[in-house]
Amino acid sequence: MSVMKELRDYFSEIMRLNYILALLGWDHQVNMMGYKNIEGRSEQMALITKLIHTRLVSEKTGKIIKQAEKFQDLNDIDRAMLREAKRAYDQETKLPEALVVEIQKTAALAQQTWQNARRNNDFKSFIPLLEKTLELQREKAAKLETHPDLYSTLIDLYEPGATYDWIANIFNPIKPKLINFVKTLDSAPNKPNNAIFDKKFDPDKQYELSYEILKKLNYDFESGRQDRSTHPFTTSLGSLDVRITTRTTEPFPACITGTIHECGHALYEMGIVKELHDTILCTGTSMGIHESQSRMWENIVGRSKEFWIYWYPTFQKYFPEHLKDYPLEDFHRAVNYVHPSFIRVEADEVTYGLHIILRFEIEKDLIDGNIGVNELPEIWNSRFEELLGIVPPNDALGVLQDTHWGSGYIGYFPTYFLGNLYCAQIYDRVLKKMPHLPEDYKKGEFSNLLNYLREEIHQYGSIYRANDLIKRVTDEDLNPDYFMEYLEKKYKPIYGL
Ligand code: ZN
Repeated sequence: MSVMKELRDYFSEIMRLNYILALLGWDHQVNMMGYKNIEGRSEQMALITKLIHTRLVSEKTGKIIKQAEKFQDLNDIDRAMLREAKRAYDQETKLPEALVVEIQKTAALAQQTWQNARRNNDFKSFIPLLEKTLELQREKAAKLETHPDLYSTLIDLYEPGATYDWIANIFNPIKPKLINFVKTLDSAPNKPNNAIFDKKFDPDKQYELSYEILKKLNYDFESGRQDRSTHPFTTSLGSLDVRITTRTTEPFPACITGTIHECGHALYEMGIVKELHDTILCTGTSMGIHESQSRMWENIVGRSKEFWIYWYPTFQKYFPEHLKDYPLEDFHRAVNYVHPSFIRVEADEVTYGLHIILRFEIEKDLIDGNIGVNELPEIWNSRFEELLGIVPPNDALGVLQDTHWGSGYIGYFPTYFLGNLYCAQIYDRVLKKMPHLPEDYKKGEFSNLLNYLREEIHQYGSIYRANDLIKRVTDEDLNPDYFMEYLEKKYKPIYGL
């Protein structure tokens, strides 16, 4: 058997173990599991995690990788497979088991403490565990040493190849432009009004409607399903089983936009070419590219005038009590209501980037030790005011709002905004190739866009790294100007500018 075949098969078994782990997690999160089994389930998940770890750090893994590295002329797929195998192996072998266990235990404790701290608006109680989390993440980055600076090494875990400097060079010039644009919209003569969403929309009807939309967007119910969960997510339980969840507990239309968002993630995973199924490459190439796909469907398609021309009559039938006499024009404006707000996950697509830039800059300072954890609320609030012009009234609506830091996810945040930027650049290219595409949406036709994305992006899984992929698709490196152009072109008419 050739070495590359051996490497491929060996890592396929690891992928399958990951799918099993995902199934155990999904079953818990959508409340299928007998609730009393919570300890038993976490033991099961810990066992599978251990099996994956033991397999990855084994001598055999090291040997296969070494042998494969001797080969000179590998094709694109084999080269990427080797790259990803080595990356997984390095991540697992460079970290001492004691550190991995310590990180897991701390994350479990910190999650609990963070939840209570947010509920009680008590940042002080979170300080010791956040300090410990940061210390452990610094230690982890120092051991992995993917880049010379610690923060870049952490970013690389979520956005392979990206560094702090590279991202700062992209975020810095767009920051003042965004701040100004938010101010311009805020003082515009013809601001939308979203009071319609204060009304109560029946949760079961929302859920039914989200199903209808999924079908039209070509989500394949024979390779996945949708359920309800506390927080929406997408998870792959196999190459042909990509499941999504939604929730109906938030004000309308969060269930609908959230479903479209997760559908975008799922379509990416569902579009990976069969040849890569069950291999280490059978997943999206980075968090940023993944997010570009979910946001393209959610924001660019799902908040466009053309999309609502098709869907609004259906929405009126579902909710005649609120929408029968409410004009389409006003509804479209309401779903594109822009205003500075405190909570990132509720932010519109214009202010969203500023929420991320805040976190990106703060994380860098925290990891470098330039600011202390005890100073965080004050620094958060003053920087928040500089970026968005408002000051959070308390820490629950400020520094305590996100789950990431308590879970040890430092370096994850910037990928969300990179997603918006990748998305705008890719969609610019889409429109140049297919200028009449939005006309499709008016007719409820969404497969031409999907086919393009499959052809150019989805089929490749993680063969190409994000920066190679964006260059292949758009013939240039990531360029944030496309995002500003997109925003101006879209929002100026809505706001009467
Ligand atoms: Zn997402």
